[in-house]
Formats: sequence, structure tokens, C-alpha cells
Amino acid sequence: MDSHPPSPLEETDDVGALAPIFRRQTALERAKARDEKVRECQTRVNSDRALLQMLNHASTCTKSSRLCPIRGCADFRMLWQHARSCRDPECEVHPRCVEARRVLEHHAKCRKRTCPTCAPAETLSMLYHASLCKKKVCEVAHCVEFRMLWQHARACPGSDGRCCAHPMCAGVRRLLGHHRRCGDPNCVICKPVVTKCKRLFEARRRLRRTDELAS
Ligand SMILES: [Zn+2]
Ligand SMILES: [Zn+2]
Ligand SMILES: [Zn+2]
Ligand SMILES: [Zn+2]
Ligand SMILES: [Zn+2]
Ligand SMILES: [Zn+2]
Repeated sequence: MDSHPPSPLEETDDVGALAPIFRRQTALERAKARDEKVRECQTRVNSDRALLQMLNHASTCTKSSRLCPIRGCADFRMLWQHARSCRDPECEVHPRCVEARRVLEHHAKCRKRTCPTCAPAETLSMLYHASLCKKKVCEVAHCVEFRMLWQHARACPGSDGRCCAHPMCAGVRRLLGHHRRCGDPNCVICKPVVTKCKRLFEARRRLRRTDELAS
């Protein structure tokens, strides 16, 4: 009934059968060394911010891990899948679980207008770009992720972001809410975007006004 060929691992007297195991180990070691290099590099640039951006990427990436050009994508996908449900304060399941949850929690609660981790002004301008960009292949870094984030945040019913399927959702919805209500012409978050998109902004406002008049 069992038509499978015998597993090579069962034939332990065959030396050649052990080769795949050795290959797997060296690949693992190589991955570890690469991981360490990536980690080192990320401490030099703002590590928390890089982590947040990678989690944002990993949560929306639909490419198979071998095809994705973002380095470490598969690892971060695993981290995101694990960290979103993990509650262990001393978790050792994933080496960056505690760190990732700290960053996510910070982002969900952060209200600092100049936070270097959350970079609200930059996030808002990326969301603005993403909400208008129709290019299939956009040269702006992270455009696709922010497009998905924008679409998600507009439709998401979640209120605290904890059980939401997106790592940046809560922070982004608060940011969009701020932008909608903000009347400060010198706001550090809104001013750069408003200046950059002034014409567009006015066009939208006119459109909204005519909508309101029509209804
Ligand atoms: Zn990816
Ligand atoms: Zn964990
Ligand atoms: Zn922050
Ligand atoms: Zn774009
Ligand atoms: Zn959400
Ligand atoms: Zn503002």
C-alpha cells in the first residue's frame, strides 16, 4: 500500500545519504551569520524604526520568500506571525519577539509629533503618495506596503490595534485622524505634506465642498 520510496535518512550505512544534512547545517550557519550582519547594521541606523518598517513590509508581503528582494523578509514574516499573538514578557521563541512587541506597542500609543521611530511626518507623506499612486511598478521605496496600509487603515474596524492584522494600523489611523482634524498651519506632521501637495489638497477640498453642496 505504501508506495513512497524509502527515506534516505533511514539508510544510515550509506554515507552519501548524510550529505543533505550537512548542506542544511551550513545553510543555517550562513543564515545566522547574515542575520547577525543585518542586526549589526540595523543598530547603527535607527534600529526600532527599521524593525517597524520591516514588520510593515513582512505583514503585507505576498511574494514567496525566495522572490522577495527585501533581505530577511522570511525571517520578519515569521517574527510578525509569532509576535502578534505572543504575550510572554521573557519570550525566547524568537530572538526579536520582545523587541518587536515593544516597538509595536510604542507605535500604537505614540503621540509624539517628532518621534524618530514612528516618523509621523514621513509616514503621512508616504500615505499621501500611496493613496494617489497608480503605478504598477513604483520607484518610491515602500510604496506598495503603504498602499496596502492605507487601504487597510481606511477599512479597519479595530480600535486598539492589538488584534488587528496590521502592525502599523493603530498608529496610522490615529495619524490620519489627526491630519483630518489638524488646523495648525505650522504642524510638524501636516505642514510638509500640505506644502508638497498643496494644489492637490485644494482640489480635493473643492471636490469635497461640491460633494457636500450636492448632497
Ligand atoms: Zn517580502
Ligand atoms: Zn514571543
Ligand atoms: Zn513613536
Ligand atoms: Zn508609488
Ligand atoms: Zn487594522
Ligand atoms: Zn497636524
